[in-house]
Amino acid sequence: MADQIANKIYADYPPALTPEQEDYLVQTVKNWTVEHALTVRPSAAIVPEETNPTGVLATSAPVTLFPSPFPKACFQQAKSLQQIYNELYANIASDEQWLEDVLKELIAVDDFLANLWKVHLAVKEEGYVQDLSLGMFRSDYMLHAPEDAPVSLRQVEFNTISSSFGGLAYKVTDMHTHLATFPSPKQPVAYPPHPLFSSSSEKSNINTIGRPPPNEAVPTLVAGLAAAHEAYGTSRSTPDLPTCILFLVQDAERNVFDQLALSTHLHKHHNIPSFRLPVSKILAYTSIPSKDSNPARPLVYTPPSSPSTQFEVTVVYFRAFYAPTDYETPSSWAARHHLERSAAIKCPTVLLQLSGSKKVQQVLTSRPPDTDHLKAFLTEHSEATLESLRSTFAPQYSLSASQLEATSEPEGIRLALDEKSAVNHVLKPQREGGGNNIYRDNIPPFLNSIPKDQWKQYILMELIHPPSAAKNTVLRSDGQVVSGNVISELGIFGTCLWRTVPGNTVPEILHNTEGGYLLRTKGKDSDEGGVAAGFSSLDSLILYEEV
Ligand code: ADP
Ligand code: MG
Repeated sequence: MADQIANKIYADYPPALTPEQEDYLVQTVKNWTVEHALTVRPSAAIVPEETNPTGVLATSAPVTLFPSPFPKACFQQAKSLQQIYNELYANIASDEQWLEDVLKELIAVDDFLANLWKVHLAVKEEGYVQDLSLGMFRSDYMLHAPEDAPVSLRQVEFNTISSSFGGLAYKVTDMHTHLATFPSPKQPVAYPPHPLFSSSSEKSNINTIGRPPPNEAVPTLVAGLAAAHEAYGTSRSTPDLPTCILFLVQDAERNVFDQLALSTHLHKHHNIPSFRLPVSKILAYTSIPSKDSNPARPLVYTPPSSPSTQFEVTVVYFRAFYAPTDYETPSSWAARHHLERSAAIKCPTVLLQLSGSKKVQQVLTSRPPDTDHLKAFLTEHSEATLESLRSTFAPQYSLSASQLEATSEPEGIRLALDEKSAVNHVLKPQREGGGNNIYRDNIPPFLNSIPKDQWKQYILMELIHPPSAAKNTVLRSDGQVVSGNVISELGIFGTCLWRTVPGNTVPEILHNTEGGYLLRTKGKDSDEGGVAAGFSSLDSLILYEEV
């Protein structure tokens, strides 16, 4: 059993450190992170506003001191599925009727979804002027290692908006590689000697390359933005304007350096300028000419620092607007509508954002005698490929009586309300960004505390059981060093650019790539997994296989 391999590996991993070794390692990590901008703006909980009134400070992002061992076959499977997942979600976002059928019951009771849907309907009524869509995706997985079965890969969720941390994750890979190989791979000084850091021949039956695999998250994500920028073509303004990409960000974003890693690469390697625009400033600094003057609806950006310069926006890359808290001003929804009706390529469109709902993920798990939606969306792929995708699905259940999945309703409700089964499940609303789920024995009392007609907003998902032996040490953003049992979540990045074809629900895919990964590692007793939300640290991985 593969979990036995994990037990064996973790029996002496990470290697024990003397106080002198730990001091050296922690000091090296503290310096490396700041030197290479593996950093975040500190939260007020760590540095109070009185101490940092001008917001000038940055601090190390939370990182693990060691890479986490990860089965090579599972990593390769996750990578091999990414382009198919990209295509799947491009297809879903292009099938408005299907999305409406899946989501309409939820839209009826969920204001946030209802507002998103309204934006789509309003733009559809007026007519979309942009048929290209860009997805910058991250598919998240955990290892599933039940007592009696080999370890396997299970999808936690598929992100279609604001898939973050590509710009920091590769730096953790570089840092762990440096620690494992400096001054020489044979004799690193920051890590004590350990078989996982050396060549595989020295170990009994476990094969590794002794360092994390390369992480191409930044070039992959940026190539997606660049492909969309190119596909937009020339300016639609009269007279022509220079073009740019707009990064739409939260007003109080702390994860700035992750985003800057992408914009800097975009300029350096593709010569494409980009600007950051906080959501509250959209209507102040962007405009669309009137219908009479220019029906093509170019999105024109005027940098506040240079009011005499104008740019035409080719791509709006959303690193905000995924959560209700991003829509707190009276004009927030008008701003979202304004962007959606523009000619800029949206990453994502409203329909693509909605495609990332947990509800869609749940519906995709349905099998005969219910409709096999996965197969219907991926008709060109072999049964073996579909099976590989399905093998990553955890059992998921509807808590509604939608006609699309008539037979699954009673089971979901029964499993959620019965304490014995609830303890093996998580209840998820249609929200992103962490901190929204309800776990285990909190599920029955929670459901009983809300009106029954609200239950359909949630989906029930079986808990994934990661290997229990995993351990690591974390340098937290507040400087504390904490060791213990951990759970890791692997994200694989991918991008996809497609054109919707009139009268056809199957889009024309122009660019579809996979590349780069994120490993987030959290304490074993923490249910949630977000780094920005304060639960996890950034990690990288050492692949191993049994030989
Ligand atoms: P969000 O959109 O808020 O990120 P997720 O579906 O990713 O929602 O859930 C948040 C966190 O909850 C995950 O990062 C993971 O740590 C945990 N989680 C979610 N689903 C499961 C599951 N089926 N089993 C175990 N943990 C889960
Ligand atoms: Mg998540």
